[in-house]
Amino acid sequence: MIDFNIEAKSSETRARAGNLITAHGSIETPVFMPVGTAGTVKAVTPEELHKCRAQIILSNTYHLYLRPGMEVIRQFSGLHSFMNWDGPILTDSGGFQIFSLAKISKTTQQGFDFQSHIDGSRHLITPEDAVEIQTTLGADIIMCLDSCIPYPADEKTAIDALKLTTRWAGRCKTKWGQLSDQKNALFGIVQGGMFKHLRAQSAEELINLNFPGYALGGLSVGEPKELMFEMADHCLPLLPDEKPKYVMGVGTPEDLVELVSLGADMFDCVMPTRNARNGQLFTAHGNININNAGFKYDTDPVDPGCGCYTCLKYSRAYLHHLYRCRELLAYRLNTIHNLYYYLQLMRAMRKAIFADKFNDFKKSFYRKRSMN
Ligand SMILES: [Zn+2]
Repeated sequence: MIDFNIEAKSSETRARAGNLITAHGSIETPVFMPVGTAGTVKAVTPEELHKCRAQIILSNTYHLYLRPGMEVIRQFSGLHSFMNWDGPILTDSGGFQIFSLAKISKTTQQGFDFQSHIDGSRHLITPEDAVEIQTTLGADIIMCLDSCIPYPADEKTAIDALKLTTRWAGRCKTKWGQLSDQKNALFGIVQGGMFKHLRAQSAEELINLNFPGYALGGLSVGEPKELMFEMADHCLPLLPDEKPKYVMGVGTPEDLVELVSLGADMFDCVMPTRNARNGQLFTAHGNININNAGFKYDTDPVDPGCGCYTCLKYSRAYLHHLYRCRELLAYRLNTIHNLYYYLQLMRAMRKAIFADKFNDFKKSFYRKRSMN
Protein backbone atom coordinates (compact mmCIF):
# COMPACT_ATOMS: atom_id res chain seq x y z
CA MET A 1 0.00 0.00 0.00
CA ILE A 2 0.95 3.62 -0.20
CA ASP A 3 0.66 6.47 2.22
CA PHE A 4 0.15 10.06 1.09
CA ASN A 5 0.62 13.18 3.20
CA ILE A 6 0.16 16.76 2.12
CA GLU A 7 3.02 18.81 3.52
CA ALA A 8 2.26 22.28 2.16
CA LYS A 9 -0.44 24.05 0.20
CA SER A 10 -0.31 27.19 -1.90
CA SER A 11 -2.74 29.85 -0.69
CA GLU A 12 -2.85 31.50 -4.16
CA THR A 13 -3.46 28.40 -6.29
CA ARG A 14 -4.50 24.78 -5.74
CA ALA A 15 -0.86 23.63 -5.86
CA ARG A 16 0.19 21.27 -3.09
CA ALA A 17 3.39 19.52 -2.04
CA GLY A 18 3.25 16.09 -0.52
CA ASN A 19 5.01 12.89 0.37
CA LEU A 20 4.00 9.61 -1.22
CA ILE A 21 5.36 6.56 0.58
CA THR A 22 5.66 3.30 -1.38
CA ALA A 23 7.24 -0.08 -0.72
CA HIS A 24 10.34 1.05 -2.65
CA GLY A 25 10.80 4.43 -1.03
CA SER A 26 9.13 7.75 -0.57
CA ILE A 27 8.44 10.29 -3.29
CA GLU A 28 8.27 14.04 -2.98
CA THR A 29 5.35 15.52 -4.92
CA PRO A 30 4.58 17.13 -7.29
CA VAL A 31 6.54 14.48 -9.17
CA PHE A 32 7.43 13.78 -12.77
CA MET A 33 7.89 10.12 -13.73
CA PRO A 34 10.33 9.40 -16.58
CA VAL A 35 8.87 6.86 -18.98
CA GLY A 36 10.64 3.51 -19.22
CA THR A 37 8.49 1.86 -21.85
CA ALA A 38 10.18 -1.50 -22.27
CA GLY A 39 11.86 -1.78 -18.87
CA THR A 40 14.37 0.94 -19.69
CA VAL A 41 14.21 4.71 -19.80
CA LYS A 42 15.64 4.95 -23.29
CA ALA A 43 19.39 5.69 -23.50
CA VAL A 44 20.12 5.94 -19.76
CA THR A 45 21.00 3.50 -16.98
CA PRO A 46 19.25 3.34 -13.58
CA GLU A 47 22.40 4.89 -12.05
CA GLU A 48 22.06 7.84 -14.41
CA LEU A 49 18.36 8.12 -13.52
CA HIS A 50 19.32 8.37 -9.86
CA LYS A 51 21.86 11.07 -10.74
CA CYS A 52 19.12 12.95 -12.61
CA ARG A 53 17.25 12.63 -9.29
CA ALA A 54 14.40 10.56 -10.69
CA GLN A 55 12.23 9.34 -7.81
CA ILE A 56 9.89 6.96 -9.61
CA ILE A 57 9.65 5.67 -13.17
CA LEU A 58 6.75 4.51 -15.29
CA SER A 59 6.77 1.30 -17.27
CA ASN A 60 4.34 0.04 -19.88
CA THR A 61 2.50 -3.18 -19.14
CA TYR A 62 1.54 -3.78 -22.76
CA HIS A 63 5.15 -3.76 -23.97
CA LEU A 64 6.52 -5.89 -21.14
CA TYR A 65 3.68 -8.39 -21.39
CA LEU A 66 4.47 -8.96 -25.07
CA ARG A 67 8.24 -8.72 -24.71
CA PRO A 68 10.06 -10.21 -22.79
CA GLY A 69 6.82 -11.78 -21.48
CA MET A 70 5.75 -12.56 -17.95
CA GLU A 71 7.69 -15.86 -17.71
CA VAL A 72 10.95 -13.92 -17.89
CA ILE A 73 9.75 -11.32 -15.38
CA ARG A 74 8.68 -14.10 -12.98
CA GLN A 75 12.17 -15.57 -13.25
CA PHE A 76 13.44 -12.33 -11.70
CA SER A 77 10.54 -11.96 -9.24
CA GLY A 78 9.59 -8.69 -10.88
CA LEU A 79 10.69 -5.75 -12.94
CA HIS A 80 12.79 -4.09 -10.22
CA SER A 81 15.35 -6.86 -10.20
CA PHE A 82 15.11 -7.52 -13.96
CA MET A 83 15.99 -3.94 -14.87
CA ASN A 84 18.12 -3.16 -11.81
CA TRP A 85 16.00 -0.20 -10.63
CA ASP A 86 15.46 -0.16 -6.87
CA GLY A 87 13.15 2.87 -6.72
CA PRO A 88 9.37 2.98 -7.01
CA ILE A 89 7.71 1.94 -10.29
CA LEU A 90 4.28 2.79 -11.64
CA THR A 91 2.88 0.67 -14.45
CA ASP A 92 0.04 1.64 -16.74
CA SER A 93 -2.69 -0.92 -17.35
CA GLY A 94 -1.91 -1.46 -21.01
CA GLY A 95 -5.27 -0.07 -22.08
CA PHE A 96 -3.93 3.07 -23.72
CA GLN A 97 -1.23 1.17 -25.62
CA ILE A 98 -3.67 -1.44 -26.87
CA PHE A 99 -5.84 1.45 -28.01
CA SER A 100 -2.98 3.25 -29.77
CA LEU A 101 -0.55 0.51 -30.91
CA ALA A 102 -2.22 -2.88 -31.27
CA LYS A 103 -3.24 -3.84 -34.79
CA ILE A 104 -6.75 -5.06 -34.14
CA SER A 105 -8.42 -4.16 -30.93
CA LYS A 106 -11.91 -5.31 -30.18
CA THR A 107 -13.39 -4.03 -26.97
CA THR A 108 -15.97 -6.28 -25.35
CA GLN A 109 -17.48 -6.33 -21.87
CA GLN A 110 -14.93 -9.01 -21.09
CA GLY A 111 -11.83 -6.98 -21.99
CA PHE A 112 -9.56 -6.08 -24.91
CA ASP A 113 -9.13 -8.55 -27.72
CA PHE A 114 -6.07 -7.45 -29.70
CA GLN A 115 -3.24 -8.45 -31.98
CA SER A 116 0.36 -7.73 -30.98
CA HIS A 117 1.98 -4.95 -33.01
CA ILE A 118 5.18 -7.02 -32.92
CA ASP A 119 4.21 -10.43 -34.28
CA GLY A 120 0.47 -10.27 -34.86
CA SER A 121 -0.26 -12.83 -32.11
CA ARG A 122 -3.74 -12.69 -30.60
CA HIS A 123 -4.36 -11.78 -26.96
CA LEU A 124 -7.23 -11.11 -24.62
CA ILE A 125 -6.62 -8.83 -21.65
CA THR A 126 -9.34 -8.60 -19.03
CA PRO A 127 -9.39 -6.11 -16.12
CA GLU A 128 -8.41 -9.02 -13.85
CA ASP A 129 -5.46 -9.85 -16.13
CA ALA A 130 -4.30 -6.23 -16.06
CA VAL A 131 -4.15 -6.28 -12.24
CA GLU A 132 -2.46 -9.67 -12.17
CA ILE A 133 0.18 -8.75 -14.76
CA GLN A 134 1.02 -5.50 -13.01
CA THR A 135 1.27 -7.33 -9.69
CA THR A 136 3.65 -9.85 -11.28
CA LEU A 137 5.69 -6.91 -12.58
CA GLY A 138 5.95 -5.86 -8.93
CA ALA A 139 4.99 -2.24 -9.58
CA ASP A 140 4.37 -0.06 -6.53
CA ILE A 141 1.48 1.74 -8.18
CA ILE A 142 -0.75 -0.06 -10.67
CA MET A 143 -3.56 1.28 -12.83
CA CYS A 144 -7.08 0.04 -13.57
CA LEU A 145 -7.78 -1.11 -17.11
CA ASP A 146 -9.73 1.70 -18.73
CA SER A 147 -11.37 2.30 -22.07
CA CYS A 148 -9.83 5.16 -24.04
CA ILE A 149 -11.55 7.09 -26.79
CA PRO A 150 -10.07 9.21 -29.55
CA TYR A 151 -10.48 12.96 -29.85
CA PRO A 152 -12.91 14.16 -31.04
CA ALA A 153 -15.53 11.67 -29.86
CA ASP A 154 -19.29 12.12 -29.58
CA GLU A 155 -21.20 11.89 -26.31
CA LYS A 156 -22.54 8.40 -26.97
CA THR A 157 -19.00 7.04 -27.48
CA ALA A 158 -17.84 8.83 -24.32
CA ILE A 159 -20.75 7.42 -22.28
CA ASP A 160 -20.09 3.86 -23.45
CA ALA A 161 -16.38 4.12 -22.62
CA LEU A 162 -17.16 5.66 -19.26
CA LYS A 163 -19.59 2.89 -18.31
CA LEU A 164 -17.09 0.24 -19.30
CA THR A 165 -14.30 2.03 -17.43
CA THR A 166 -16.37 2.12 -14.22
CA ARG A 167 -17.39 -1.52 -14.55
CA TRP A 168 -13.80 -2.57 -15.21
CA ALA A 169 -12.58 -0.43 -12.30
CA GLY A 170 -14.88 -2.42 -10.01
CA ARG A 171 -13.53 -5.70 -11.36
CA CYS A 172 -9.93 -4.47 -10.99
CA LYS A 173 -10.62 -3.48 -7.38
CA THR A 174 -12.12 -6.91 -6.60
CA LYS A 175 -9.18 -8.73 -8.18
CA TRP A 176 -6.71 -6.49 -6.38
CA GLY A 177 -8.48 -7.27 -3.08
CA GLN A 178 -8.18 -11.00 -3.77
CA LEU A 179 -4.45 -11.02 -4.42
CA SER A 180 -2.72 -11.81 -1.17
CA ASP A 181 0.30 -9.60 -1.89
CA GLN A 182 -1.06 -6.06 -1.68
CA LYS A 183 2.17 -4.16 -1.38
CA ASN A 184 1.07 -2.07 -4.34
CA ALA A 185 -1.65 0.56 -4.67
CA LEU A 186 -4.35 0.56 -7.35
CA PHE A 187 -5.39 3.85 -8.96
CA GLY A 188 -8.71 4.51 -10.70
CA ILE A 189 -8.73 6.42 -14.01
CA VAL A 190 -11.31 9.13 -14.70
CA GLN A 191 -12.62 9.09 -18.27
CA GLY A 192 -15.58 10.87 -19.89
CA GLY A 193 -14.04 12.46 -22.97
CA MET A 194 -14.34 16.23 -23.16
CA PHE A 195 -17.76 16.28 -21.48
CA LYS A 196 -17.69 17.88 -18.05
CA HIS A 197 -20.80 16.14 -16.73
CA LEU A 198 -19.42 12.75 -17.81
CA ARG A 199 -16.06 13.50 -16.20
CA ALA A 200 -17.91 14.36 -12.98
CA GLN A 201 -19.93 11.16 -13.21
CA SER A 202 -16.79 9.09 -13.81
CA ALA A 203 -15.01 10.70 -10.85
CA GLU A 204 -18.00 10.09 -8.57
CA GLU A 205 -18.34 6.44 -9.56
CA LEU A 206 -14.63 5.81 -8.99
CA ILE A 207 -14.62 7.62 -5.65
CA ASN A 208 -17.44 5.30 -4.54
CA LEU A 209 -15.08 2.39 -5.21
CA ASN A 210 -12.54 4.09 -2.91
CA PHE A 211 -9.13 3.82 -4.61
CA PRO A 212 -5.80 4.75 -2.96
CA GLY A 213 -5.26 7.30 -5.77
CA TYR A 214 -6.89 8.72 -8.88
CA ALA A 215 -5.75 9.62 -12.38
CA LEU A 216 -7.15 11.69 -15.20
CA GLY A 217 -6.97 9.67 -18.40
CA GLY A 218 -7.88 10.56 -21.95
CA LEU A 219 -6.24 13.99 -21.85
CA SER A 220 -3.57 15.29 -24.22
CA VAL A 221 -4.99 13.09 -26.99
CA GLY A 222 -5.07 15.83 -29.63
CA GLU A 223 -7.53 18.29 -28.07
CA PRO A 224 -6.68 22.02 -27.90
CA LYS A 225 -4.59 22.97 -24.87
CA GLU A 226 -7.31 25.21 -23.42
CA LEU A 227 -9.72 22.28 -23.44
CA MET A 228 -7.20 20.04 -21.67
CA PHE A 229 -6.75 22.66 -18.93
CA GLU A 230 -10.50 23.20 -18.71
CA MET A 231 -11.06 19.48 -18.14
CA ALA A 232 -8.26 19.23 -15.58
CA ASP A 233 -9.53 22.37 -13.82
CA HIS A 234 -12.98 20.80 -13.67
CA CYS A 235 -11.90 17.30 -12.58
CA LEU A 236 -9.03 17.79 -10.13
CA PRO A 237 -11.13 19.47 -7.38
CA LEU A 238 -13.70 16.66 -7.65
CA LEU A 239 -11.11 14.11 -6.52
CA PRO A 240 -10.48 13.62 -2.78
CA ASP A 241 -7.74 15.99 -1.58
CA GLU A 242 -6.20 13.41 0.73
CA LYS A 243 -5.38 11.11 -2.23
CA PRO A 244 -2.70 11.56 -4.92
CA LYS A 245 -3.98 13.00 -8.20
CA TYR A 246 -2.20 11.93 -11.38
CA VAL A 247 -2.60 13.51 -14.83
CA MET A 248 -1.54 10.88 -17.36
CA GLY A 249 0.62 11.51 -20.41
CA VAL A 250 1.26 15.26 -19.97
CA GLY A 251 3.24 17.29 -21.04
CA THR A 252 5.45 20.34 -21.75
CA PRO A 253 7.14 22.23 -18.88
CA GLU A 254 4.39 24.88 -19.20
CA ASP A 255 1.68 22.17 -18.96
CA LEU A 256 3.24 20.83 -15.77
CA VAL A 257 3.35 24.27 -14.14
CA GLU A 258 -0.31 24.92 -15.05
CA LEU A 259 -1.50 21.51 -13.89
CA VAL A 260 0.39 21.72 -10.61
CA SER A 261 -1.32 25.05 -9.97
CA LEU A 262 -4.64 23.28 -10.63
CA GLY A 263 -3.83 20.68 -7.97
CA ALA A 264 -2.17 17.76 -9.79
CA ASP A 265 0.53 15.75 -7.99
CA MET A 266 1.88 13.25 -10.52
CA PHE A 267 2.84 13.27 -14.20
CA ASP A 268 4.45 11.13 -16.86
CA CYS A 269 5.36 11.95 -20.43
CA VAL A 270 7.73 10.72 -23.13
CA MET A 271 8.47 14.34 -24.07
CA PRO A 272 11.81 14.91 -22.28
CA THR A 273 13.23 11.57 -23.43
CA ARG A 274 11.74 11.39 -26.92
CA ASN A 275 12.52 15.01 -27.74
CA ALA A 276 16.09 14.51 -26.50
CA ARG A 277 16.53 11.85 -29.16
CA ASN A 278 15.21 14.34 -31.73
CA GLY A 279 17.70 17.00 -30.67
CA GLN A 280 15.26 19.22 -28.75
CA LEU A 281 16.60 20.34 -25.40
CA PHE A 282 14.56 22.05 -22.68
CA THR A 283 16.14 24.87 -20.74
CA ALA A 284 15.05 27.50 -18.22
CA HIS A 285 15.39 29.99 -21.09
CA GLY A 286 13.30 28.13 -23.64
CA ASN A 287 13.83 25.14 -25.88
CA ILE A 288 16.71 24.75 -28.30
CA ASN A 289 17.34 22.43 -31.20
CA ILE A 290 20.92 21.22 -30.90
CA ASN A 291 20.95 20.45 -34.63
CA ASN A 292 20.94 24.18 -35.44
CA ALA A 293 24.05 25.36 -37.31
CA GLY A 294 24.41 28.23 -34.82
CA PHE A 295 25.75 25.82 -32.19
CA LYS A 296 28.69 24.64 -34.28
CA TYR A 297 31.27 26.80 -32.48
CA ASP A 298 29.31 27.37 -29.25
CA THR A 299 31.57 26.65 -26.28
CA ASP A 300 28.82 27.19 -23.67
CA PRO A 301 26.92 24.33 -22.03
CA VAL A 302 23.29 23.72 -23.05
CA ASP A 303 22.11 25.67 -20.01
CA PRO A 304 24.78 27.45 -17.95
CA GLY A 305 22.46 27.32 -14.91
CA CYS A 306 21.88 23.56 -15.16
CA GLY A 307 23.63 21.16 -12.78
CA CYS A 308 23.31 18.01 -14.90
CA TYR A 309 26.24 15.85 -15.96
CA THR A 310 25.86 16.92 -19.60
CA CYS A 311 25.93 20.64 -18.80
CA LEU A 312 28.79 20.29 -16.32
CA LYS A 313 31.03 18.44 -18.77
CA TYR A 314 30.11 19.24 -22.40
CA SER A 315 29.60 22.16 -24.75
CA ARG A 316 26.76 22.85 -27.15
CA ALA A 317 29.27 22.52 -30.00
CA TYR A 318 30.15 18.98 -28.91
CA LEU A 319 26.49 17.96 -28.50
CA HIS A 320 25.76 19.53 -31.90
CA HIS A 321 28.59 17.49 -33.42
CA LEU A 322 27.45 14.25 -31.77
CA TYR A 323 23.89 14.82 -32.93
CA ARG A 324 24.91 15.65 -36.49
CA CYS A 325 26.94 12.40 -36.61
CA ARG A 326 24.06 10.49 -35.02
CA GLU A 327 26.53 9.24 -32.42
CA LEU A 328 24.90 7.09 -29.72
CA LEU A 329 26.33 9.32 -26.99
CA ALA A 330 24.15 12.18 -28.31
CA TYR A 331 20.99 10.37 -27.23
CA ARG A 332 22.37 9.63 -23.81
CA LEU A 333 23.73 13.11 -23.03
CA ASN A 334 20.62 14.84 -24.41
CA THR A 335 18.35 12.56 -22.37
CA ILE A 336 20.32 13.18 -19.18
CA HIS A 337 19.93 16.93 -19.64
CA ASN A 338 16.22 16.89 -20.46
CA LEU A 339 15.34 14.60 -17.57
CA TYR A 340 17.39 16.67 -15.16
CA TYR A 341 15.61 19.80 -16.39
CA TYR A 342 12.13 18.30 -15.89
CA LEU A 343 12.97 16.91 -12.47
CA GLN A 344 14.60 20.12 -11.36
CA LEU A 345 11.47 22.02 -12.49
CA MET A 346 9.33 19.82 -10.23
CA ARG A 347 11.64 20.51 -7.28
CA ALA A 348 11.50 24.25 -7.96
CA MET A 349 7.69 24.09 -7.93
CA ARG A 350 7.74 22.16 -4.68
CA LYS A 351 10.01 24.75 -3.13
CA ALA A 352 7.68 27.55 -4.30
CA ILE A 353 4.71 25.76 -2.71
CA PHE A 354 6.53 25.47 0.61
CA ALA A 355 7.43 29.17 0.45
CA ASP A 356 3.83 29.91 -0.61
CA LYS A 357 5.14 31.87 -3.60
CA PHE A 358 3.71 29.83 -6.46
CA ASN A 359 2.46 32.83 -8.44
CA ASP A 360 5.85 34.54 -8.20
CA PHE A 361 7.48 31.33 -9.33
CA LYS A 362 5.07 31.06 -12.27
CA LYS A 363 5.73 34.61 -13.39
CA SER A 364 9.48 34.18 -13.33
CA PHE A 365 9.23 30.74 -15.01
CA TYR A 366 7.25 32.17 -17.96
CA ARG A 367 9.44 35.26 -18.24
CA LYS A 368 12.61 33.16 -18.53
CA ARG A 369 11.12 30.48 -20.75
CA SER A 370 10.08 33.07 -23.35
CA MET A 371 13.59 34.54 -23.58
CA ASN A 372 14.86 32.36 -26.42
ZN1 LIG B 1 21.83 20.19 -18.24
